[in-house]
Amino acid sequence: ASLYRIDGWGAPYFAVNGSGNISVRPHGTETLGHQEIDLLKIVKKASDPKSVGGLGLQLPLVVRFPDVLKNRLQSLQFAFDFAVRSLDYQAHYQGVYPVKCNQDRFVVEDIVKFGSPFRFGLEAGSKPELLLAMSCLCKGNPEALLVCNGFKDCEYITLALVARKLAINTVIVLEQEEEIDLVINLSKKLSVRPVIGVRAKLRTKHSGHFGSTSGEKGKFGLTTTQILRVVRKLDQAGMLDCLQLLHFHIGSQIPSTVLLADGVGEAAQIYCELVRLGAQMKVIDIGGGLGIDYDGSKSSDSDISVGYDLQEYAAAVVRAVRIVCDRKSVKHPIICSESGRAIVSHHSVLIFEAVSASAYEAPVLSSPGLQQFMESLTEDARADYGNLYSAAMRGEYETCLLHADQLKQRCIEQFKEGILGIEQLADVDGLCDMVSKALGASDPVRTYHVNLSIFTSIPDFWGIGQLFPIVPIHRLDQRPGMRGILSDLTCDSDGKIDKFIGGESSLPLHELEGERSVSGSGGRYFLGMFLGGAYEEAIGGLHNLFGGPSVVRVSQSDGPHGFAVTRAMPGPSCGDVLRVMQHEPELMFETLRHRAEEYGSGQYNDPMGNDALASRLAQSFHNMPYLVATSSCALNA
Ligand code: PLP
Repeated sequence: ASLYRIDGWGAPYFAVNGSGNISVRPHGTETLGHQEIDLLKIVKKASDPKSVGGLGLQLPLVVRFPDVLKNRLQSLQFAFDFAVRSLDYQAHYQGVYPVKCNQDRFVVEDIVKFGSPFRFGLEAGSKPELLLAMSCLCKGNPEALLVCNGFKDCEYITLALVARKLAINTVIVLEQEEEIDLVINLSKKLSVRPVIGVRAKLRTKHSGHFGSTSGEKGKFGLTTTQILRVVRKLDQAGMLDCLQLLHFHIGSQIPSTVLLADGVGEAAQIYCELVRLGAQMKVIDIGGGLGIDYDGSKSSDSDISVGYDLQEYAAAVVRAVRIVCDRKSVKHPIICSESGRAIVSHHSVLIFEAVSASAYEAPVLSSPGLQQFMESLTEDARADYGNLYSAAMRGEYETCLLHADQLKQRCIEQFKEGILGIEQLADVDGLCDMVSKALGASDPVRTYHVNLSIFTSIPDFWGIGQLFPIVPIHRLDQRPGMRGILSDLTCDSDGKIDKFIGGESSLPLHELEGERSVSGSGGRYFLGMFLGGAYEEAIGGLHNLFGGPSVVRVSQSDGPHGFAVTRAMPGPSCGDVLRVMQHEPELMFETLRHRAEEYGSGQYNDPMGNDALASRLAQSFHNMPYLVATSSCALNA
């Protein structure tokens, strides 16, 4: 476990059990009388078509734990409740979940359900997100907020006003000054009294990767001058009482409570000024930014870690608001936050399989002997070889490597000129490999080929170099004998992971057992990417037409293995992903079926009949784009 820092980033949800597998405690430190769940057992149940109750889902697989979501929500709420009580704060905390972090229907519905006892609401940033938030909140607590952020046109604002008519506690947050005119006009037209918020562009700047939204040059929010103009316009329209919320967001992954308190303090000053100017202020919305410790280092100097826990975060916020409001004798506002990453990151694990690894090939010479090999070289190359040999005899190993490289480069040039044959070139490669292996200079890092698309499932690694903990989910009682990088299925050289938490450029991995192919039988090697529940599913694309993974929802239960799969969804099929790009799989199939009738068995004496050809084609549209085990390939069936 220490090799992969599991205790650092995994606690309290993930650990290693006595069998050397990753175990999951979805309720955190509390076991609630249940046994821990063995993640490998979930993967086997989900993927094995042969075991009893096996679901036969294809990998990659996302395993969702709704109980983790519940625990995250409760932990955040309890942290704020504790800070409110201990700092004698005179209002409460009620959060909203920004659906952009993961819009999956069941994730959002779970959050609304689990958050209902403490008025937890939703944040939307676009029209479809607003539609989904509206419909989900119909089943939630009526006091829960629906915060409408993002760029807004008249349709968006109309929809938000309709939501208020439907008694959903909706707040239209102005992100652009122009939005105020639309809000005033449309609310009059629709006879709705809106609740309005303003997003302030703070001067406090978060300097990490995720801080580009903050500071005076940030993309979003209103400057102080713009806020003042909005106040005047609302006053003139007789609507200043509608302005009730102040919002800001200084960026995701806020590294320290010092920076957090600085931003919250600045916003609290603006809040108090709005009160002074006559707005009926009620809520300070501190945005997102509550960070995740992806590498377990608890450090405020890194983009992938944070130097505080939930309690410290909540206390810093409550204290900062309180100090400012007390000084100005302003009633304490309700504190709202829009934490996304901190709520959903832990709840899902992406499971994928290493299907092969670049094997170490013992260097060989194909020539019957060294003498013959030497004779096949040109005079220059023979001289290089002579230098190499003499350096080896003198024990000058650095020089040896230099001469080996010289020989190799010369032979490559000669091959390009057509002077050297392919066998001789292979022999030169073999000889140079032997030299570097003998001198301990060969690269011990292997490439593990994984049944995954990084562009689809870990897009932030590709896009912004974000690191996530990646760990084998079993065999953790055996010391890994290899180091490897991960290479995905896409035909793209960026489709590889060669940076890992802890500043490592390779990952300790075990030797693959069994056949070096997608054999599917025994000896499979499963890896898990953890803490990727936020943003990765929402941002992932369709590069090479690899779609999303299969998904299972798993709850802790009293069953024999301590869990129950409450939902299983295969990932998008080849037909599904083709459809996204406007292809019509049904028409494509018909075209190919006619072709099979025309050119099929008769034409080529094919052992496959036309019907078999057609059903093989249909199967290909139906299956997921990822690699299947050879044993389940229809040709073998
Ligand atoms: N609110 C707003 C306005 C955001 O832009 C974001 C994300 O950047 C969030 C909330 C969620 O932030 P986080 O995931 O860091 O909690």
